[in-house]
Amino acid sequence: MKGNRVIIIGAGLGGLECGYILAKNGMKVTVLEREAQVGGCLQTFRRGAALFDTGFHYVGALKEGESLHTLFSYFDLMNLPWKQLDEECFDEVIIGEDSFRFANGHQQFFETMAAYFPKEREGLKKYVAFLKQVGDHIFDSLKGENDGTFTNSLFACSAYDFLNETIQNPLLRKVLSGTSLKMELNAPTLPLYTFAQINDSFIRSSWRLRGGGSQIAEKLVSSIQAMGGEVKTRAAVTYIKEEEGKVVGVSVNNEDYMEADWIISSAHPAYTVSLVGESKKMRRIYRNRIAGLDNTFGMFTANIRLKPGMLPYQNKNIYIYRSEADLWNVKPINTESVLVNYSVPEEYSSTAVNVDLLSPMSWQEVEKWSHYPVGRRGDDYVAYKEAKAEECIRLVEKRLPELRGAIDKIFTSSPLSYHSYTASAEGCAYGIRKDYNNPMFTVLTPRTPIPNLLQTGQSLNLHGILGVSMTSFFTCAEILGRDKIVEIIKQKS
Ligand SMILES: Cc1cc2nc3c(=O)[nH]c(=O)nc-3n(C[C@H](O)[C@H](O)[C@H](O)COP(=O)(O)OP(=O)(O)OC[C@H]3O[C@@H](n4cnc5c(N)ncnc54)[C@H](O)[C@@H]3O)c2cc1C
Repeated sequence: MKGNRVIIIGAGLGGLECGYILAKNGMKVTVLEREAQVGGCLQTFRRGAALFDTGFHYVGALKEGESLHTLFSYFDLMNLPWKQLDEECFDEVIIGEDSFRFANGHQQFFETMAAYFPKEREGLKKYVAFLKQVGDHIFDSLKGENDGTFTNSLFACSAYDFLNETIQNPLLRKVLSGTSLKMELNAPTLPLYTFAQINDSFIRSSWRLRGGGSQIAEKLVSSIQAMGGEVKTRAAVTYIKEEEGKVVGVSVNNEDYMEADWIISSAHPAYTVSLVGESKKMRRIYRNRIAGLDNTFGMFTANIRLKPGMLPYQNKNIYIYRSEADLWNVKPINTESVLVNYSVPEEYSSTAVNVDLLSPMSWQEVEKWSHYPVGRRGDDYVAYKEAKAEECIRLVEKRLPELRGAIDKIFTSSPLSYHSYTASAEGCAYGIRKDYNNPMFTVLTPRTPIPNLLQTGQSLNLHGILGVSMTSFFTCAEILGRDKIVEIIKQKS
């Protein structure tokens, strides 16, 4: 494919990383973002002294030599103010009355868990060794060392079956699944690769970002601009034009037209196919298949601004479950689980300024308000969210009784907010639901039926900051060639 003009749809992590890789390698990059703020799920908002993250809260594998460190070094993101979580307890899982610590490092993780469950040492050893193996092979295909057969095969295996076969004790199975609100624990579909790779990365090391996730997006934007690329906000791509089997340009805000030699979309795939006009290559059967894929659940968040000096900052995440919670069959409507995440105080104080409570929420719960614009969804929507926030607080205050008295103000968001601010289908938190029974159809590749229209972002391969960052390289390999990408990854790791 000749020509070096690339238009990238969406300035979330995936779009910006692709923009960075391509600009660094001589392509003429324009990133178009429909929102006023770049970042997608990395957007932040400020209310007084409190700075809230909307999506991203913490990452794994950011220590030197680890996978995200390799990728973020390339993206020049390692000089942001990262803060490592407590190595002895980066995550605490509370199920009913019982509390369990997750420690960093495979051996330490094993010892900590084995102390709670001494009869499960053998199962735990296998569990940890397997996660480590998956993590060790993360760059196989990006390094060109093999064709990725090992990791690809894990997309066709069940995470739930693996856990049941490896671990006998049902409570330990729950505990090991207990930090997994960062994926959709859906027993009939979740691929083993998703479960193992994500959990492994956080066991290696876990980190927050002082000052919020938007810094990642802003840093990528300034790097792209410094390399001659452009990033435009309030620039919604409303149409992708195809001629003779190739995409040739996009309409922006239904007004301007921009030509391109390549187009990469980081929008939800169902949305991308809806943007493509008449096409010789993208047939109805493909469009219907993509539009018909299931999405992961959405997330409700209560962003809580705290009264000054009232609640000590905790350098760990706390996952709280009702004792009866069925972790692998999440019924979002029941508020059976809440993740408590503290933002790192910007002023280096020992008390927290704000805390977020996250709990799964389905699109069906909020769909009836989806036809109304942001801020005009009515009193019943506001009341619904207030009731949900109260349920979350009630579940949390059993373990953190000081929380209620420390609350200054609560701001809430639902899957409708993600739908409005990131155009994610059904406000899904983690993109398309990958299904191990059908990986060929649900684990999408960057390619589309149109050779110069590519995709990137969390609906492909693996979601989350690590997954999206890897996928950006897979997408750019389609333009720069696999050898170039192999060279970059080998140099950095
Ligand atoms: C509540 C929540 C918590 C999370 N917590 C974590 C976490 O702690 N750790 C972690 O690793 N991951 C976390 N994630 C996941 C992670 O944030 C995402 O996987 C990742 O940021 C997604 O990046 P993306 O580029 O694929 O998509 P997005 O961030 O959704 O970006 C897509 C962008 O495309 C834009 N766009 C869409 N359509 C158009 C159009 N037509 N024209 C122009 N622009 C368009 C959107 O506005 C958006 O900015 C979380 C996600 C959520 C929702």
